[in-house]
Amino acid sequence: MMNAPATVTLNPCLDCGACCASFRVSFYWSEAVSLGLPDTALEQASPWHACLRGTNQPAPRCMALQGEVGQSVSCSLYAQRPSPCHEVQAGDAQCRKARHKHGLPELPVLALRHG
Ligand code: SF4
Ligand code: SF4
Repeated sequence: MMNAPATVTLNPCLDCGACCASFRVSFYWSEAVSLGLPDTALEQASPWHACLRGTNQPAPRCMALQGEVGQSVSCSLYAQRPSPCHEVQAGDAQCRKARHKHGLPELPVLALRHG
């Protein structure tokens, strides 16, 4: 029986953050309420939708994004981040679009996103 291959865990998101500074992040108000997101993190996108403050503008940047895109970043709302934040995965189309927008290189094949 073969041993399990060694695994290398990388989290390219920790020195990226491009997707948090590229798109409008909107979701139902009911989700914002159920997650307990503070009013200071939200803007109204429609009668039924909230968006993360800072993402509904020509040069979006979520108010919860800390640090410098492409250098070192963190999310001050990580435990409460809404569903669109979970949906973007390292290496997917949205990720590639965001990284390209910020002049960041494509991710290596082995890079995986956590969470
Ligand atoms: S999902 Fe992609 S664009 Fe978003 S932080 Fe991670 S590596 Fe960057
Ligand atoms: S809540 Fe966090 S993960 Fe979601 S867009 Fe803002 S900084 Fe990014």
